[in-house]
Amino acid sequence: MICLGIEGTAEKLGIGIVSDDGEILANVTKHQPLVTGIHPREAAQHHADNMRGVLESALKKAKLDLKDIDLVAFSQGPGLGPCLRVAAVSARTISLINDIPIIGVNHCIGHIEIGLLLTDANDPLTLYVSGGNTQVIAFDSGRYRVFGETLDIAIGNCIDQFARAVGIGSPGGPIVEKLAKNGNYIPLPYVVKGMDLSFSGIYTASVNAAKHHKIEDVCRSLQETAFAMLTEVTERALAHTEKREVMLAGGVAINKRLQKMLSAMAKEHGASFFVPPRDVLSDNGAMIAWVGLLRHKSGERQDIEDTAVKQRFRTDEVDVKWK
Ligand code: AMP
Ligand code: MG
Repeated sequence: MICLGIEGTAEKLGIGIVSDDGEILANVTKHQPLVTGIHPREAAQHHADNMRGVLESALKKAKLDLKDIDLVAFSQGPGLGPCLRVAAVSARTISLINDIPIIGVNHCIGHIEIGLLLTDANDPLTLYVSGGNTQVIAFDSGRYRVFGETLDIAIGNCIDQFARAVGIGSPGGPIVEKLAKNGNYIPLPYVVKGMDLSFSGIYTASVNAAKHHKIEDVCRSLQETAFAMLTEVTERALAHTEKREVMLAGGVAINKRLQKMLSAMAKEHGASFFVPPRDVLSDNGAMIAWVGLLRHKSGERQDIEDTAVKQRFRTDEVDVKWK
């Protein structure tokens, strides 16, 4: 069985084609070029304009025809409404043209399951950090449970907004990581509330600090402080859940400093540490296709009437029947 997955939660449009034995036949992503922040309607227009081209290049890469697709999956949420709707409408169209089943996928679970497919992790505690999400997640009693999360903006959003505000470019993640290497530490607000985190204060403080400190110093301090917050919450969740594995997922997981901090923490607890391959860390269609297959193979079916998008689709809403 071959599944085509469409990812469209934010500024990236992704189409992945995956077979039911877990082989990724194609995984094509097109980024909307960003100078300012994401404008939901403009991002949706980008996806609509590029859907055909990305679809054709994914099929070409997989050496398949649209009629070879047996199942179509799409990112049902969480994400930006207009973007989600473009992905959903495209998936419905393919489902109707091919007369094949359609299945909606929780985007956050996509990040976890593609990691399980491509690493040796089996039952990890996952720190999922991206442009739009920040969650500490572990599987327990039939669902992926959220043990901690951001109370306001995501860590990726915090770094990206900071980079734009101080004029060092976009997306900020890789730029801040590079500058941070030559910086010195200055104190910034460290906000952990129970198991949850807040990044809006450190964002404002960093923008203000950049007015009278070297940019390298602010980048270093923003990373050290925010990543220490993430590591603290992940460590507490690890102690509570007694998992033996830690996995890092999402676009911010590309960051080498964050990887180092998390792996040192995992090591201290005798837990194994995993980072999935870089090309599946950012948003992509293969992770959506793979969860679509897992859902379908476990017997789940979805009527086209039930494919409305869910902007606030929570990780812990999904009954995980495939595990
Ligand atoms: P995603 O939303 O999962 O596609 O991930 C996009 C986010 O990953 C953006 O906020 C990027 O700034 C961030 N990102 C990409 N590379 C890095 C990096 N090297 N360090 C930190 N963040 C990064
Ligand atoms: Mg994501």
